[in-house]
Amino acid sequence: MKLTGKILLLLVLVVVVVTAIAGTLTVRSAYASLEERQHSLAAQLADEIQERLATAWRAAGPRGVNRALHDWVEETNQPLVIEFVLFSDEVDRQLQPRVPRDVWPVLRRGQIFSRVAIDDSGSRNLHTYMPIESWNGELGALELTQSLAALDEQTRQLVVGTVMAMSASALLGLALAYVAGVRWVAQPLHALIAHTQQIGRGDFSARTELRSGDELDQLAQALNAMSVRLAEQQATIGRETQERVQALQQLRHADRLGTLGRMAAGIAHELGTPLNVVAGRAALIASGRLPAEEITSSAQTIKAEADRITSIVQRMLDFARQRRPHTSPCDLTMLVDRTLSLLSTMAEKKSIRLELIRPAPGLATICTIDEAQIQQVLTNLIVNAIQATPTAGQVRLTIDSVPETGTVRESDTELASAAQTAWLRVSIEDSGQGVPDDLHERIFEPFFTTKDVGEGTGLGLSIAYGIVQEHHGRLEVTRSDLGGARFEMWFATEHAAPGDTTVN
Ligand code: ADP
Repeated sequence: MKLTGKILLLLVLVVVVVTAIAGTLTVRSAYASLEERQHSLAAQLADEIQERLATAWRAAGPRGVNRALHDWVEETNQPLVIEFVLFSDEVDRQLQPRVPRDVWPVLRRGQIFSRVAIDDSGSRNLHTYMPIESWNGELGALELTQSLAALDEQTRQLVVGTVMAMSASALLGLALAYVAGVRWVAQPLHALIAHTQQIGRGDFSARTELRSGDELDQLAQALNAMSVRLAEQQATIGRETQERVQALQQLRHADRLGTLGRMAAGIAHELGTPLNVVAGRAALIASGRLPAEEITSSAQTIKAEADRITSIVQRMLDFARQRRPHTSPCDLTMLVDRTLSLLSTMAEKKSIRLELIRPAPGLATICTIDEAQIQQVLTNLIVNAIQATPTAGQVRLTIDSVPETGTVRESDTELASAAQTAWLRVSIEDSGQGVPDDLHERIFEPFFTTKDVGEGTGLGLSIAYGIVQEHHGRLEVTRSDLGGARFEMWFATEHAAPGDTTVN
């Protein structure tokens, strides 16, 4: 609409300027041709009645000349007045030129000359002077006076007519241009703007059909083509992302099964004890030598051990099962507890002390996470720590919170600042050989391993890193006081905005 208004204003301005110039030229040429006619008439007159004027002069001087001139005007029916004038103050006022005195020096130069002057009644006249030498040798002139009233009236009518015609055509043009502007410019532009806004919102389904065949139509077609291409690319990206996600899930599942394989020896050992108990008690019952009350107690023991076996198998199955990603509020401490119970036999086999330093009492360790994925991360880190620690070494887990300032809360007295608590941190440290400084970044790369073939895949840490990042958390490695490596996982609590990792 604004663009249409500007174009219309420009159009009207152009029409006004062009019409004004054309009108001025027409009026000027009308005056010029009148002057031209008067000049040629003056020259003709001087030639034609030279003799007659000389006779009149001799008979009655300048007045005689004037009478002869009046007669000639009447005879020839000229629409003007012709007088004989002398450029002298001595002669009668009627014999002096009607143009102002300051023009006389120009007239005295003896050349034909025209000048417009206003007479006493206020009318405009065109005076043309044809110099002639009077018959007593004085310089005089024939003064042809033509009233400009008719021409002025014509000019006035022309100006009025032009202004009216211009106003009418400008108004009509404005109305037409307004309608056309809205139809051809404003409406298509609005449609195009709406289309681009839809694209900006990520909706590529919109199409704009103008069918006007102009540049805006071309723009609409270009936009349509762009929308089609963007929609195709969006679909391709969606497909590829889905494929990538599926591949990642498969990889993570494979890693989980690998970890389970590493835990297998420990789990077999864990199952061995209850199975031995079950077998022993069952043999006793089968022997038929047990008194009735002992049969009952043995059956209860068998039941308790079978429950233990079921629980161990259930935990393994839980760990191995492939699940769809799903985040929900989860107590991190409980998750760590569950994971440790899965891995305790693995640590026991190497006589490694597996300890957990629990969070300060009253500290809520709830965060919104995908439980299965974070358990996978914890398992990878703990299995790595156990593998890196020599027999009879130590693996320590710590759960604490870090306020936004980055200082770890040491005592309950700081509970008052719980509202500021932004991060929960789980540290896994061991008394192994540690990670050399120059490998701190490389160990998170996929397939980087220092373990022997068949022992390590090099996937555990890269998968753990990816999972923690997807949770808007952090995973880092440093040195531990225990002498080995210290892996730290950070998760935002309810108080922190995801992605706010400005921790010192
Ligand atoms: P993998 O355990 O299959 O080798 P990871 O990605 O889990 O794959 O680990 C990559 C490498 O990081 C390991 O091969 C090892 O060199 C190093 N690493 C991981 N955890 C520890 C640790 N606790 N102590 C020392 N080195 C470690």
